Amino acid sequence: MEGKLYTGEDYKKEFDSQNYLKTYYTFDSGTVAENEILKFNLKNLFETFSSGVRGDVLSNTGPGPTIYQLLSACEAFREIIASDHLQQNPQEVKKWLKKEPGAYDWSPAMYPRPPSLSDESRGLLKWDSNQPHPLGPAQVPPVNCVLTLLALECACHDVDAYRAAGRGLVSLLKPGGHLVTAVALRTQHYMVGAKKFFGLHLEKETVEKALQEAGCQVLRCRYSPVSYSEAHCINEGICFVVTRKSPRA
Ligand code: SAH
Repeated sequence: MEGKLYTGEDYKKEFDSQNYLKTYYTFDSGTVAENEILKFNLKNLFETFSSGVRGDVLSNTGPGPTIYQLLSACEAFREIIASDHLQQNPQEVKKWLKKEPGAYDWSPAMYPRPPSLSDESRGLLKWDSNQPHPLGPAQVPPVNCVLTLLALECACHDVDAYRAAGRGLVSLLKPGGHLVTAVALRTQHYMVGAKKFFGLHLEKETVEKALQEAGCQVLRCRYSPVSYSEAHCINEGICFVVTRKSPRA
């Protein structure tokens, strides 16, 4: 029987943060593809944030319940502002920051040492990638870097929405700032527990073009043919892109 395909507003009710972590970040030999994707992202994040992408403030949009994306970034930026679409995701991260019982164990991803992340949060900022002002009424001065991994292909329903979301994210950047993103390519759907969520089919070229049209120069675009386990997500390949907003924008 075909199950329901969850999208948009369903996220708030149906997305289970702990199931998401168990599915994609289990760190055991049963999930080889997921581990390969995590390694690909960690390696690219390390390269990016140890080779010149640094500054004052980084905005991490759509972190979901994960922290792996900040392990290198926290060394390169003074302040990190996280914003997600869902309440339950930052709550999961807060458990980890506060070392509460039941917090997710990220230690396998933290070789060689744990990051210096602290919980000086200004509260949760809401991010809706489908709004022209993605952070809504929150007053955030333009930032040096926007980091968004594996989120826009979940949030955007078609390529036009993806392009608009790209423009929205670029609008958060200072001129000359960096937008860093990883995208699961040719996605159809992905599973969180037994629930199936919509995923947007994007080609690598579509991603690059959307970011260029939004006013960024593509500095680096790394591709890996690795795909998720079929039981978890239907996609083909992943790309990691580092771009820079025009200094004159
Ligand atoms: N970045 C994480 C989690 C990705 S899960 C990782 O690398 O694993 C997909 C994310 O898309 C969730 O955090 C969800 O909150 C976000 N999302 C879904 N719809 C959205 C929307 N309209 N605007 C912004 N984010 C959205």
